Amino acid sequence: MAETTSSENSLHIRVLGGLILGAIAGTIINSTFLTPVDGVKPPPPEWLVFIQKYITDPIGQVFLRLLLMTVVPLVFASLALGVARLGGMGSLGRIGLKTFAYFFLTMTAAVVIGLTLVNLVKPGVGLPPAIQTQMAEQFGGKLNDTLSKPTTFGIQTFIDIVPRNPLQSMVNMEMLSVIFFALLVGIGITRLKAEHNQLMQNFLESVGELMVFIIGLAMKFAPFGVFALIFNTTANFGLDLLKNLATYVIVVIVGLGIQMFVVFPILLSSLGKMNPLTFFKLTRPVILTAFSTSSSNATLPTSIRTAEQDLKIPAPIAGFVLPLGATMNMNGTALFEGVTAVFLAQVFGIELTLTQQIIVVVMCVLTAVGAAGVPGGSIPLLALVLTTVGVQPGAIAIILGVDRLLDMCRTTLNVLGDMTAAVYINQSEGAALSKSPTS
Ligand code: ASP
Repeated sequence: MAETTSSENSLHIRVLGGLILGAIAGTIINSTFLTPVDGVKPPPPEWLVFIQKYITDPIGQVFLRLLLMTVVPLVFASLALGVARLGGMGSLGRIGLKTFAYFFLTMTAAVVIGLTLVNLVKPGVGLPPAIQTQMAEQFGGKLNDTLSKPTTFGIQTFIDIVPRNPLQSMVNMEMLSVIFFALLVGIGITRLKAEHNQLMQNFLESVGELMVFIIGLAMKFAPFGVFALIFNTTANFGLDLLKNLATYVIVVIVGLGIQMFVVFPILLSSLGKMNPLTFFKLTRPVILTAFSTSSSNATLPTSIRTAEQDLKIPAPIAGFVLPLGATMNMNGTALFEGVTAVFLAQVFGIELTLTQQIIVVVMCVLTAVGAAGVPGGSIPLLALVLTTVGVQPGAIAIILGVDRLLDMCRTTLNVLGDMTAAVYINQSEGAALSKSPTS
């Protein structure tokens, strides 16, 4: 564990290095060779076209695909396993209900905070039309081959959640259908004979671990991938885009901060009957692990240990709420998705009605539930949210260069949200549970 942590830390420094170097290199090239003369942007020099076509663009794309390839099996395995475990604890049905209610309410609060901020600050408004067109041309449709097909939002969207053929849904990365199937499989597993039940749980756990291993390999490539992505972004658009992204980044981080330092303390004192300062002090190892790994899954062992040893939460509650939370409860991710969807809509000049924004809230909560607790786990699901606001999934490429930083921050909120849920469930159910012989 200690080894993993230190190598993860040095990886983060290298990723940050890749980000900074990519931004510097791209910005220098942009301001030296692509500064508009009399309002006209000069054509890019041949060597730059070559570098982008044969080096930085492929590296960025390959990095993205390495992450995307794990998403379907990981979401399926972790979700089905989470439900199977929940269903297996029949006597904990009420705890399940409370946990889900807490997850959904806090995620909804997070998205509402994010949408309020992004609508007030409007970080995506103000890009000159020429740059908008250029961005649309460059990024639009680029990720289409790896992301699910854009859909419209209507009654058919809900019908389509139920897959006709679950394998086909997996192939097409129709994540809501994959989630639906995973829920049924998870429930079904609890009805199997003990021997088969265990077999399925072991299998799903192994699939999850395999995917985490592959993501670990992909992440070794991250410093180069991030360098390439930010280099392309800055070389092509320079400071105008960076300035817009900076406001967007600040909006996301301020939103996460409000949820963490205003909403969580209120919930901790009222529902959890715990001093928020004590909570933040005791959960420091969890905060550090989440921030440095950008992965709810990777942080889970630390969360469980801290909950049991430091927060004195009984093992049945910690072992139930936290693994489920690592898969399903993602406050930071939901907020990030909401801000990003509205930000990109602003970039492309798409006005959103109140109804559309409410749909965004619902979609963000649903897709945050489906997002895998791994670095960049929410990126493919963000495509679904984008299609509901009429933005091409390929536009995700615009924010990928800064996603690593945001991922570190939102994962910290994701994991702390699980910890607050465990504190609440312990406060309301801990006493009853310790008396129950079935637990
Ligand atoms: N990295 C996040 C997590 O593990 C998921 C995401 O938003 O990409 O919680």
